[in-house]
Amino acid sequence: MKRKIKKAAVIGAGMMGSGIAAHLANVGITVYLLDIVPTQLLPDEEKKGLTLDHLSVRNRLAANAKQALLKTKPSPLYSVDDADLIQVGNMEDDLNRLSEVDWIIEVVVENLAVKKKVLETIETYRKPGTIVSSNTSGISINEMVADRSDEFKKHFLGTHFFNPPRYMKLLEVIPAETTDPEIVNFMVDFGENVLGKGIVLAKDTPNFIANRIGTYGLMVTIHEMEKMGLRADAVDVITGPLMGRPKSASFRTLDLVGIDTFVHVVNNVRDHLKDEEERRFFTIPTYIHEMVNKGWIGDKNKQGFYKKVETEKGKEIYVLDTKTMEYVPKVKFKSALVEMAKQAKTLKDKLRILLYGKDEASQFAWNTLKRVLLYSANKLGEIADDIVNIDQAMKWGFNWELGPFEIWDAIGIEKSVKRMKEEGEVIPSFVTKLLESGKSHFYEEVETKRLYFSTNGTFKNISENPKKISLADLKEQKKVIKANAGASLIDLGDDVALLEFHSPNNAIAIDIITMINQSVEEVSRNYRGLVIGNEARNFSVGANLMMILMEAQDENWEELDIMVRMFQEANMKLKYLDKPVVVAPFGMTLGGGTEVVFAADYVQAAAETYMGLVEVGVGVIPAGGGTKELLLRNLEGIPDGVSMDVQPLVNRAFETIAMAKVSTSAKDAKTLGYLRKQDGISVNRDTQIYDAKQAVLALDQLGYQPPKPKKIRVVGETGFNTLRLGIYSYKASGMISEHDQKIAEKLAYILAGGNIPANSYVTEQYLLDLEREAFLSLVGEPKTQARMQHMLTTGKPLRN
Ligand code: NAD
Repeated sequence: MKRKIKKAAVIGAGMMGSGIAAHLANVGITVYLLDIVPTQLLPDEEKKGLTLDHLSVRNRLAANAKQALLKTKPSPLYSVDDADLIQVGNMEDDLNRLSEVDWIIEVVVENLAVKKKVLETIETYRKPGTIVSSNTSGISINEMVADRSDEFKKHFLGTHFFNPPRYMKLLEVIPAETTDPEIVNFMVDFGENVLGKGIVLAKDTPNFIANRIGTYGLMVTIHEMEKMGLRADAVDVITGPLMGRPKSASFRTLDLVGIDTFVHVVNNVRDHLKDEEERRFFTIPTYIHEMVNKGWIGDKNKQGFYKKVETEKGKEIYVLDTKTMEYVPKVKFKSALVEMAKQAKTLKDKLRILLYGKDEASQFAWNTLKRVLLYSANKLGEIADDIVNIDQAMKWGFNWELGPFEIWDAIGIEKSVKRMKEEGEVIPSFVTKLLESGKSHFYEEVETKRLYFSTNGTFKNISENPKKISLADLKEQKKVIKANAGASLIDLGDDVALLEFHSPNNAIAIDIITMINQSVEEVSRNYRGLVIGNEARNFSVGANLMMILMEAQDENWEELDIMVRMFQEANMKLKYLDKPVVVAPFGMTLGGGTEVVFAADYVQAAAETYMGLVEVGVGVIPAGGGTKELLLRNLEGIPDGVSMDVQPLVNRAFETIAMAKVSTSAKDAKTLGYLRKQDGISVNRDTQIYDAKQAVLALDQLGYQPPKPKKIRVVGETGFNTLRLGIYSYKASGMISEHDQKIAEKLAYILAGGNIPANSYVTEQYLLDLEREAFLSLVGEPKTQARMQHMLTTGKPLRN
């Protein structure tokens, strides 16, 4: 029988244990979350007259951890209901639970003796065959399991999640020498397809892959900063996005992670290394120890390398001068090369400008990156079998845009190696082997296959999830059916087409609307169905605000009217297309993006979908069919022939739009009514387009029929007055502004169906006309235009 994980136990309810339990619950797995039994009462417990035998005291640690999950932001849970799958307990009363579960993951303190003891206890209670793993970030997996039985050893391995487990893509899987390969394969598949993680296979070495290379990189940065006499604020300008790293760069990242945690990780590597020189390298400078002693450990204590300081000018971020140990104002770092690199379009260009220039920034970037590249190549074989695992680990675990070997390809291996040699560096044999073979890149593409240079000197296939469909690859394979500047229609194979948006931020403008129209015609004639999806950071941030604002400022009302009408019509065409349409939203799916989702027969959303009708934030109402569709979605549960008071349902649609609610996950989008209960969720975004295509094929096979237009019963004038009364009271209590009130009333008017008798029936087109009217009148308002302007310049809504 195929192995399946339905129930799991997480041992240790600390920061990581509770986060892992939450993520298991997110994907529908029942979890027991167990921690130790407290040996002392808290004052609060004493006051309540509780004793140490009381269950609420015995379960306190896990119970508190579960409570904290509900308050943590960003939420570790897809939806608050998921917490119900987490059952708290303790390591004395609930050990029998361990015999019920399919997987036990140890997440207790980072201490070999404690971990060994926990595994011993687990062995007494677990049933044979149960997988057991450890979330250790650095302790040897082999040592930990040394005293256990052979049967236990076969089922034991490392599964190293990154913090926070819901959001970090990386899961390092570390087989012990004794792990049954079948168990390793199962966990790789489970991690990827059920938990949605990116898996790398790591070897059992200190701190595995990502933390080994990552901490090395940070140590290089710290050492080089001292050597060159730079300060953290300058270094962060160089080592952020310009080098393909997150905005938090080096020292903001350390403040976020916690400097104490960093010191702990570095010490762990140093303690386990054999090479003296390498050990020396992992030595924390005295000033960092001093910072930890003073409690300047980063964001947790509100100061680390940076600190918010109250000044005459208001709150300002100061930076630590590590020579004087005083916080001083940040200084703008001046470097012509940095400015040039900022202007460059691709990371490859940025890196080349920065690395091969000749100023302080350039020298710093080169000195640090050079070390990381050489270290990665030197550690190959020891920490990972191939470059793919190292590159993926750095991208998924440290949010690097490119891994070290990809960076090396980007900056030119020959050119960089020449310079390294001139500087007296020893070039790792793996790299010279590549160059001697006449090749110039670690990665190659041959026909449709992606290959990597392996340690035995040959190029090998990169094994990828077979469910991953790459639109970039399809485009290279000339599968584009039609394209314009903002969107393309691509052949996904099996007679399914995909409409991809690719405008900046995937903002919707005429080019996308045109491509929707063309796609609808093409699919109706030649395809079984349509997927709408893309590979950008966000599905779509909504309508192109800049264009709307410019038209409005030029008072081009007719143009605007045509544009809105065209978008409404395009969405109606999608809705009533004679072939199934499946939309695959992910990330930010806002405003017009949500309206496109509403046009689908079925939605295959990524688990991380932040969806919402946010138009009121920029002073308008959803007018691409969004207001109408949210109303319909709220009403659609009512069986035909049942007459009931629909006002509460209308109120719900009103509140959702008026408050510009945005979902925190796809599951939350179901709760908010943006998605239907039956819509699909892909936990792993890599498989989302594949999943959406399968949905199209299934709908087609089941004899798809497009929906039939229905008349809509509206609450009319009476309902409008009810909503207006509510809006008035909000205004009277000062909770909303006059302009908010105006927008809300226009919204209420559409949702009520206008000033017509209650229970009248209207068409969809009638509601679309109301949407358009309201939109056009609002967009002419100076306060709406101010909101748009503010959003475009600051990215934040303006309350006026
Ligand atoms: P933590 O200190 O927040 O939590 C550890 C928990 O284990 C505590 O609640 C403690 O009461 C409990 N515990 C201790 N002994 C126990 C026992 N015998 N039985 C049951 N529970 C016991 O630590 P954490 O940050 O959650 O780290 C846990 C593990 O995960 C460590 O191995 C750590 O190296 C690893 N890890 C941590 C991070 C991170 O960012 N913090 C990231 C990846 C991996």
